[in-house]
Amino acid sequence: MNAEEIRERIDSAMTKAGRNDRVSFVAVSKTRTVSEMKEAERIPWVDFFGENRVQEGEAKRRAYGTSRIPWRLIGHLQANKARKAVEIFDTIDSVDSADLARRLGRIAGEMKRVVPVLIEVNTSGEDSKSGVYPEKFPELLDEVMTLENLRLEGLMTVGPITDDEGEIRRAFSHLRGLKESAVTKTGLTLPVLSMGMSDDFEPAILEGSTMIRIGTLLFGPRDYSKH
Ligand SMILES: *Cc1c(COP(=O)(O)O)cnc(C)c1O
Repeated sequence: MNAEEIRERIDSAMTKAGRNDRVSFVAVSKTRTVSEMKEAERIPWVDFFGENRVQEGEAKRRAYGTSRIPWRLIGHLQANKARKAVEIFDTIDSVDSADLARRLGRIAGEMKRVVPVLIEVNTSGEDSKSGVYPEKFPELLDEVMTLENLRLEGLMTVGPITDDEGEIRRAFSHLRGLKESAVTKTGLTLPVLSMGMSDDFEPAILEGSTMIRIGTLLFGPRDYSKH
C-alpha cells in the first residue's frame, strides 16, 4: 500500500489549490478482500469504503464485522437492488433518476430511516457512464428535495477518460457549478463534491473536490479474474 505517497500527493494538491480545508478519502474496495480492507481501515485518514456492487458489498460487509468507517455505494444501482442497498450501505452516492430516488425514499421510509445520498451526474457526456445528464439535473434535484427520507449531501461524478487535463478540469468545474446552483436554489449546504479517482484526483482537488475515491493507487491494480 502506497499510503504515504498518496498522502503527500493529496497534501501538495491542496497546497497548490490554496486550500486549508480537508478532502475526505473513500478507499474504493471493489474486488478487494476483507483482509485488504482491514489493512486500509488502519490508515487514520481513510474515511469511507466505496463499493460499486450491492452483492459484493453485502458479502463483504457480513464477513467484515464492525467497521470504524461508513460504507458508501458508489456504483450504479438497479431498482431491484434498492432495498438491499439501503440495508447494506450507509450512503448511496449514485442516485441518477427520479424513479430510483422515489423508490429509495419509500424504502427508507418503511425502515424509518433517513438515508444520506448524492446525486450522480454524467459530466463527461460519455454514454457508457452512469449519472443523470446535466440538463436533467434540476428536475432530479426537485424530486429528491420532496423526499423526506433522503438527505441530499451533494453531488458525485466520474471524470472523462482522457489525458487532456483541460477536459478533465472542465468536467469537474461543471459539477462544482451545478452544486453551487443547487445550493442557491435549495438553501441546503450540500457539503459533498465527490470527484477524483486514482488518475485524476489532483485536478479534482484543484476544482474543489471535497471527497476523492481511490482504489488502484491504494490497493494496486484490480484483478477482475478473481471475481
Ligand atoms: C472503481 C471506481 C473508483 C476508483 O477507481 P481507481 O481508478 O481504481 O482509483 C472511483 N469511483 C468509482 C465510481 C469507481 O467505480
